[in-house]
Amino acid sequence: MSLPEIPDIPAHCLALFDRLSAYVDGELKGDERRELEDHLQNCPKCRVCLTTLSQSVRICKRVGTRPVPENLSRKLMELASTASQNPGQA
Ligand SMILES: [Zn+2]
Repeated sequence: MSLPEIPDIPAHCLALFDRLSAYVDGELKGDERRELEDHLQNCPKCRVCLTTLSQSVRICKRVGTRPVPENLSRKLMELASTASQNPGQA
């Protein structure tokens, strides 16, 4: 997956996007889960994505439909991009 129009999101975060959805579904196990949780602790962008994603999944489950990864990913990208404009640390 390559998204050249969004240059300020680290590649490892983009790589985690797929895993985030598996994570909120409880499908991520073992080392992958550990690795993701580890990264989340150090990455505000991915925490924002995870929060948004888990909320979306919860809503989707409530109405009995599957999430739409394409639109959701785009929305998450926008959120992550916004978060990156507020460093929050000196
Ligand atoms: Zn990240």
